[in-house]
Amino acid sequence: MTAAFTIAIDGPAAAGKGTISKAVAAHFGFKHLDTGLLYRAVGAKTLLGMDPIKAAQALKAEDLHASDLRSPEVAQAASRVAVLAEVRAALVDFQRSFARRQGGAVLDGRDIGTVICPDAEAKLFITADADVRARRRYEELAGKGGGLRYEQVLAEVRERDARDRDRAAAPLVPAKDAALIDTSQMSIEDAILAAISVIEERRS
Ligand code: C5P
Repeated sequence: MTAAFTIAIDGPAAAGKGTISKAVAAHFGFKHLDTGLLYRAVGAKTLLGMDPIKAAQALKAEDLHASDLRSPEVAQAASRVAVLAEVRAALVDFQRSFARRQGGAVLDGRDIGTVICPDAEAKLFITADADVRARRRYEELAGKGGGLRYEQVLAEVRERDARDRDRAAAPLVPAKDAALIDTSQMSIEDAILAAISVIEERRS
């Protein structure tokens, strides 16, 4: 088994980082952690009336498999709890120990290359124009029969971007040594190939 090797993949909502992270993990035979699920699981608990800090401190692995974590309401709740430094602090150890597991790890989120794993061997920042991201998210939700309007999805993407970028605790910003991939004009296949080629370079 290979030693620890951490791939940090950050970027805004619906830029393609989830799909790219899964494909990269499969390509290198690494384990993948979608760190957004941690914030979504905490956000979902606050929608049931729980205190966000207590929810983060008591989070269990099985909470990440709760149904409905992908809904737009939970996404907004996640970005609201994610501004709280105490919530973020409660989730650090779990992410760092996952990152240093033997055999390699891919973590995707907003602050992996900057705060959680500043020493990651490879860092990527995946982005795309807000309207392209909203269109992708709209098509994904429309396929599930969400009944949403495109303008509403775009407004929610912009609202979440602003909250993630402007917060004081671990704002969404590319790490200085991250490779930037803008997927606005790219097919997902090309974006995956671009990500793999950046990581191959960092491995050699
Ligand atoms: O990636 P995803 O859209 O599932 O993340 C939901 C929310 O969780 C984001 O909008 C962001 O506010 C928060 N998040 C974060 N840090 C991470 C991952 C997600 O603040 N590492």
